[in-house]
Amino acid sequence: MANLILILGDQLTPDISALNGADPRHDRIAMAEVHDEASYTNHHKKKLVFIFSAMRHFARALKDQGWQVHYQRYHPQNRHQSIEGFVGDLVSLTQPDRVVTTECGEWRLHEQILQWQERFGVPVDIRSDTRFIASKQEFAHWAADRKSLRMEHFYREMRRKTGLLITPEGQPEGGQWNYDADNRKKWTGQPPAPAPFRVEPDATTKTVISEVEEHFPEHFGTAEDFHFAVTARDAALALEYFIDFALPCFGHYQDSMSEHEDWLFHSVLSPYLNCGLLDPVQVCEAAAHAWYTGQAPINAVEGFIRQIIGWREFVRGIYWLNMPDYARENRLDNTRPLPWFYWTGDTRMRCMHKAIDATRRNAYAHHIQRLMVTGNFALLAGIKPEEICDWYLAVYADAYDWVELPNVLGMVMHADGGYLGSKPYAASGKYIQRMSDHCTHCPYSVSQSFEDNACPFNSLYWHFIDRHRDRFSGNPRMAMMYRNWDRQDPVKRARILARAQTLMDNIEQI
Ligand code: FAD
Ligand code: SF4
Repeated sequence: MANLILILGDQLTPDISALNGADPRHDRIAMAEVHDEASYTNHHKKKLVFIFSAMRHFARALKDQGWQVHYQRYHPQNRHQSIEGFVGDLVSLTQPDRVVTTECGEWRLHEQILQWQERFGVPVDIRSDTRFIASKQEFAHWAADRKSLRMEHFYREMRRKTGLLITPEGQPEGGQWNYDADNRKKWTGQPPAPAPFRVEPDATTKTVISEVEEHFPEHFGTAEDFHFAVTARDAALALEYFIDFALPCFGHYQDSMSEHEDWLFHSVLSPYLNCGLLDPVQVCEAAAHAWYTGQAPINAVEGFIRQIIGWREFVRGIYWLNMPDYARENRLDNTRPLPWFYWTGDTRMRCMHKAIDATRRNAYAHHIQRLMVTGNFALLAGIKPEEICDWYLAVYADAYDWVELPNVLGMVMHADGGYLGSKPYAASGKYIQRMSDHCTHCPYSVSQSFEDNACPFNSLYWHFIDRHRDRFSGNPRMAMMYRNWDRQDPVKRARILARAQTLMDNIEQI
């Protein structure tokens, strides 16, 4: 039996299920850099460099192991500009007994692949993606019959299933499942944050950089100073570096933001986890080991593991449970277009400028910048979900539909009605002031709410609360906000709402 095995750009691991039982003597592997995937959104240049270079390194490693790999490098004049065109052609050329692939991470492509059997006239074997701890079916089973889906409950199941930070008696190590309450410190410069882990581009990566510069000049961001790992070996070194230098402080400063540090104590491992260069369970085991050996405290290690086996798995489950309708959700009826400054960083709001500028340079911003700055602003200003989702999908090196969409549409925009949070993550400027030093460098005043130079987040926050009263005032977790709002002097309330309206009417000038 000779199979044609398709490996996609986010499936770069020799353990990928599509390769199970494959034989390098008979089977052939297909990999392609295609225009349709590279251009369906304005992908950051560093994201394109990262994926193309990682694919080329992976294909070379396969060839070195004796596999026959049909690899298409990107060129705008290539005959095939889609995965489907490329695979269809190889099917005609090589006449395989079947096409084998691992389920992809995006509904759009998934739908296409489901048609291939009929279109190509060969059986297509779509295998489960075993890199995830919970399969789609397992998540659907867990979700069935539950009135509400809460990450924390799912996370505990994943802890039990993997045995991560579980005592021999089946209890959570340290006595608690969740140490989040310890993870909200503001970072004020000490201890110093480690420099980012760097891999200098090799000849392959340098070639990809110049190709991306040439063929995608209009795409967002810059390819300059590219220093991501593009092989499993270097990604493993990035993990080691994180465990040694950042993990001990990861917990305490997880929610912090800084004028001077782009990465703080975050792992910057998401691009590698999502494209297959690192295995999620192995990453968590390395973190757990750091706790067992006294190298990192429990709040840091538990917090880190929760992000991976809790949030990461949970958002994937939500995506596959609810697509394709999920992508069209807009329960808050938002209508405002995405302000242009999301692409330029050209805004006087210091926190927004810093988050967007870091995104432009690095194809990275950490979770709190994504959630509480750029996300929070989009939520408060009522930006159309599809436009803000498209922005997040484009600008981050770790962004794929299955993980970006629930985070943005669900967690940030509350457009799905609340799978990912029992209340919206809406916050005024006070939150940003509490967790960062941005406000002291900002022309707006965070202590004012309706004056001409008042922090835009403040009035927009109250406008959000006010305009969604029907939806949220009955939510027990928001009752206090409504009481606070109703208690304010009516004249002040009117001024705040007027200031918010002026801001929204002149949103490009903020
Ligand atoms: P760390 O802070 O070091 O966390 C460790 C790991 O936990 C991450 O590498 C990641 O794999 C996982 N993780 C943490 N939070 C989440 C989460 N909410 N969902 C899924 N995984 C999580 N993550 C992506 O991988 N791709 C995206 O496209 C993406 N878009 C996001 C959009 C918004 C609006 C928000 C609020 C979050 C988004 N996230 C996304 C989640 C999270 O912000 C990133 O995973 C994280 O910032 C990556 O940086 P890191 O590796 O340094 O993470
Ligand atoms: Fe951001 Fe407002 Fe602080 Fe300026 S004052 S940095 S806009 S939160």
